[in-house]
Amino acid sequence: AGTPDEPIAPGPATTADGERVVTLINIMGPSDLERPEAAHADGIGLLRSEFLFAEGRPDEEAQVRIYRDILAWAAGRPVTVRTLDVGGDKPLEGVTIEGEANPFLGLRGIRLSLKHRDLFLTQLRALARAAVDGDLEVMFPMIAVPAEYDAAAALMDEALAALAREGIPARRPRLGMMVEVPSAAIAIDLFAAEFFSIGSNDLTQFVLACDRANGAVNDLFDATNPAVVRLISQVVAHGRATGRKVSLCGELASDPHGVRILLDAGLDRVSVSLAALGRTRRAIAGYRRGDV
Ligand code: PEP
Ligand code: MG
Repeated sequence: AGTPDEPIAPGPATTADGERVVTLINIMGPSDLERPEAAHADGIGLLRSEFLFAEGRPDEEAQVRIYRDILAWAAGRPVTVRTLDVGGDKPLEGVTIEGEANPFLGLRGIRLSLKHRDLFLTQLRALARAAVDGDLEVMFPMIAVPAEYDAAAALMDEALAALAREGIPARRPRLGMMVEVPSAAIAIDLFAAEFFSIGSNDLTQFVLACDRANGAVNDLFDATNPAVVRLISQVVAHGRATGRKVSLCGELASDPHGVRILLDAGLDRVSVSLAALGRTRRAIAGYRRGDV
């Protein structure tokens, strides 16, 4: 699986054919950026913002400070923040509900944010304020139907209107969505998102009806399964056809074989954990089109 400490070659990631592949990192918070490998990333493809809520409930000002710190580190490189993704296996006191019979299929991700309007608006306000300081993108997790994306985007507009009334500087970040529920991948053309980020971990779990964290069904959990790869290819093709960026931020991009499959599908943007960055960049460097 490679070690986290292998040196990373400087410069952009380029395939053996000379095609440039944007390589971004997944982080849980600003402290991840202190690791030296982070300097080699083209930006942040996924901030899992739920981890900012692990110890308490940061208010709007606290969140603005965190997002600004991350944008300052990025120094003009893109930063994609995913709004709160709790529920399922990630409880948050006072927000998630206990005792759901099927928590992975329950009240989670964007479903919860839309129900907890104040919590969600606070995060959207903080993000709109921080967006003044850099290249910020915001995406929504676990989107299953277009109405969820539309409702979340409308709340961002509401947050911006309120900030304008209050005379607080803000800017509309680009808005996108995670593609990790099969319904979204299958009917991707129905979504108004400005960019897409494929969550291969959840997509695999739901396409194969296979708990991603259950060792007993580990053999079946395979993001290179043709059914999963076909959906990924379809989303990548849709992004190309409509001029919208598509990236992939699941574990598939941390697996050298997975990287080759993704490049074959036409993907030119991946986001991986810091520990996988060197390995993924080496897999890209060794890839020639048609090699898989
Ligand atoms: C995914 O589902 O692939 C993903 C990147 O999000 P998370 O692992 O945080 O659910
Ligand atoms: Mg996910």
